[in-house]
Amino acid sequence: MKAYDGMYIGGAWRPAAGTERITVVNPADETEIATVPAGTAEDIDAAVRAARAAFPGWAATPPAERAAHLAALRDTMLAHRDEIAETITAELGSPIGFSRAVQAGAPIAVAASYAELAASYPFEEKIANSTVLLEPVGVVGAITPWNYPLHQIVAKVGPALAAGCVIVVKPAEDTPLTARLFADLVHGAGLPAGVFNLVTGVGPVAGQALAEHPDVDLVSFTGSTAVGRRIGATAGAAVKRVALELGGKSANVILPSADLAKAVKVGVANVMSNSGQTCSAWTRMLVHTDRYDEAVELARGYAAGYVAGDPRDGASRLGPLVSAKQRERVRGYIEKGVADGARVVAGGPGAPHPTGYYVAPTVFADVTPTMAIAQEEIFGPVVSILRYEDEEDALRIANGTVYGLAGAVWARDAEEATAFARRMDTGQVDINGGRFNPLAPFGGYKQSGVGRELGAHGLAEYLQTKSLQY
Ligand code: NAD
Repeated sequence: MKAYDGMYIGGAWRPAAGTERITVVNPADETEIATVPAGTAEDIDAAVRAARAAFPGWAATPPAERAAHLAALRDTMLAHRDEIAETITAELGSPIGFSRAVQAGAPIAVAASYAELAASYPFEEKIANSTVLLEPVGVVGAITPWNYPLHQIVAKVGPALAAGCVIVVKPAEDTPLTARLFADLVHGAGLPAGVFNLVTGVGPVAGQALAEHPDVDLVSFTGSTAVGRRIGATAGAAVKRVALELGGKSANVILPSADLAKAVKVGVANVMSNSGQTCSAWTRMLVHTDRYDEAVELARGYAAGYVAGDPRDGASRLGPLVSAKQRERVRGYIEKGVADGARVVAGGPGAPHPTGYYVAPTVFADVTPTMAIAQEEIFGPVVSILRYEDEEDALRIANGTVYGLAGAVWARDAEEATAFARRMDTGQVDINGGRFNPLAPFGGYKQSGVGRELGAHGLAEYLQTKSLQY
């Protein structure tokens, strides 16, 4: 077991202020693999001060130079892609192929997109007799979750640095090793001291200190709605900017004209990847009553292909959940689904593996819209199949939760699917299996959040306007 020291503050690893430590566990075999320091309010304060000191210089750096720094960071990340993937597999448990392609691949693509946007974004705008300057907001406090441990960091660091902001990151306690590796990559890429800072620690101590720090200008949070609500309230009381990326309960709407087998196959894959620990996962599959039984049979078959195994083995399609706590939470939801009268057609609450935080790939049929498993975010490999009578019924069910993060619509042609998607209360919809686009805005309607990440819309979150009249 490796004991890591220090916080990355002001361009160097500095000793932590306190003596508390966080133990990192490999969720596939339950072994302790490392410890990192648990930061205190003192560490957060030191990091915010370092960021503040770096802010004027970075804000004044020409956008083309900021772009060159981000391009160097992208190149360093690309050169360390395997190490990133192995670190994420070790502490999160996502299968190694997925770690390489998505867990490491997506943040490299996002870093590349912000290297380009920093160079091309119009930081000045003419409106009649005014010139509008788009200026960086200042010091950003970023609090990130464990499910996409590098992507969630880069989705904040990329636009913040492109905009001319400086940042302090407090990563999730379950996945601090990926965050530490990223700090080393930032260092290796030669970014100016203080522009990026990292404090590892637990949410109620280091996270809360960052959210409450008076010298933080913008708090960007990704995680649970419960914590997001508190952070929003704290930011509101201090009249400070806040961006919240919260939970989801997205609908996969399969219209009667769709290619059912394809829609079910992609739908099951969408939920099983990353063991269902994806806020935008389409965890509710909506199928017309005439094709319902056929869809359930197809889903049962596809789910059976997700055999749980060691995530380091390239053949494993389903890894463990991140922690014992998450496994218990997900099993609790599966038991609740059974108690509420839903029918388990694959998986169930039993353990598919003697060690590791595994949950069996689970498919529920006969799920009704008001059941807890159809309303609440489970964050595990669990698909609920719901029945609808007609399109209006499908729309009511799709829009009938407090969330609105993502979704999917399938139909014979894209126009039919698009017409339905226009009526959905959600921030992102994949039409007939559309591909991930790192430039498209990502974020929620309703209680799924406030603000947008990725692309030019994500960059705008880190800017404030100043109007000059002539
Ligand atoms: P969480 O909201 O508790 O943690 C997310 C981040 O917030 C972590 O860095 C954590 O340390 C920090 N945090 C926790 N309490 C804090 C506080 N009082 N002040 C400031 N920061 C604080 O989420 P979790 O426990 O990791 O996961 C619980 C649930 O959250 C999941 O089951 C899932 O439903 C949801 N979740 C959503 C996303 C998403 O991308 N939307 C990601 C991860 C988890």
